[in-house]
Amino acid sequence: MRRINLKKANVARADTIRYINRQIVLNYVREKEPISRAEISQETELQRSTVSLIVDELKQRGLIYEIEGESTGGRPPTLLRLRAAGWMAIGVDIGTAQTTVAVADLVGRVVDREKFPTDTDVRATFRRVTSSVQRFIKIHRNIEGIGVCVPGLVDPETHVALFVPHFKWRNWPLASELRKATDLPVTVDNDANAAALAELWLGRPEIRDVRDFILVLVEEGLGTGIIFDGQVYQGVAGAAGEFGHMTIGKGAPVACAAGSEECWEAFASERATLARYRQRAPQVESEITFLQRIDKAVAHDEAANDALLETAYYLGLGIANLTKGLSPEAVILAGDIARAWPLIAGELRSTLAANTICSVVPLAPVFASTLGDDTRLLGALSLVLARKFASVVPA
Ligand SMILES: [Zn+2]
Repeated sequence: MRRINLKKANVARADTIRYINRQIVLNYVREKEPISRAEISQETELQRSTVSLIVDELKQRGLIYEIEGESTGGRPPTLLRLRAAGWMAIGVDIGTAQTTVAVADLVGRVVDREKFPTDTDVRATFRRVTSSVQRFIKIHRNIEGIGVCVPGLVDPETHVALFVPHFKWRNWPLASELRKATDLPVTVDNDANAAALAELWLGRPEIRDVRDFILVLVEEGLGTGIIFDGQVYQGVAGAAGEFGHMTIGKGAPVACAAGSEECWEAFASERATLARYRQRAPQVESEITFLQRIDKAVAHDEAANDALLETAYYLGLGIANLTKGLSPEAVILAGDIARAWPLIAGELRSTLAANTICSVVPLAPVFASTLGDDTRLLGALSLVLARKFASVVPA
């Protein structure tokens, strides 16, 4: 994973630009194939020679190939296509309830997947993940690497899962253990960072053209992934993006993972919304899930709708703070709550507007993630994509 290190900024800058340009060219081929070098150069405003260099490199790596276009009189143009099925990646999404292991191609098309409940015992979870990955390696060839996302803090250098609050797992050398068991390169990151990366690589075009954005991942907890200059901003020891623990008020309906009732997570996570719903509808069975509650809201259940709108208000409040501090080009809301976007968008946006009055920063557009239920899984897969394209050494 690339990481911006200001101490090495002068050295990093040239590599960073090259990495970003490569990402831009690859995205153009992916989106608009078949496309010529000249068209890419025109649309991206990159110099023709730069585009040619990058295309040659991508060709060498077997990621794109050339075909002959239709002649309009003269010599037929050479067009570029993506060799999507040329290689595969394995993504592992370790969630608080479920773990998904999947195989996908270069454009994020999942060809095989397996789901199982996440075991609270870290050894049991690791054994289950390993056997699933090993099975997929036997079936699918050309697997380039494995990307894993976890709901917790990950060291961006060593890829050790430092702390997963839900399970109280600490210092789990996940990457090195999985590498040993599979003989493949392994990249591990926090789920919100990975989801942000997925939006960058595989999200809708209007997001892919944005170089600075924040992804807010609402789950049992609340995490944020910051994309800065087309890369995940990690901070020291990967601890950036912990906005879920910024103070937003007092007396939240639940406590955050660290036990405080003042954090954004305590006001706007799935747990907070469920707690509000139970307060409003105590007669409803206690085991209702977040998704079921969203479905109820869609079906005009007043208590579900109200609980969701109150969450939308707190999401708007938090996003207003992030916007004031970081001035992103866009904010993306991800997690199951994105399914309720038509219900909550109005409340969220009006809260955002009401809370940016004292700021000179213009309002950032807020979108719901378009990656659906698979945002985190695609995030895990994007870790492999990003790793592949971050490498500046030609394959
Ligand atoms: Zn907290």
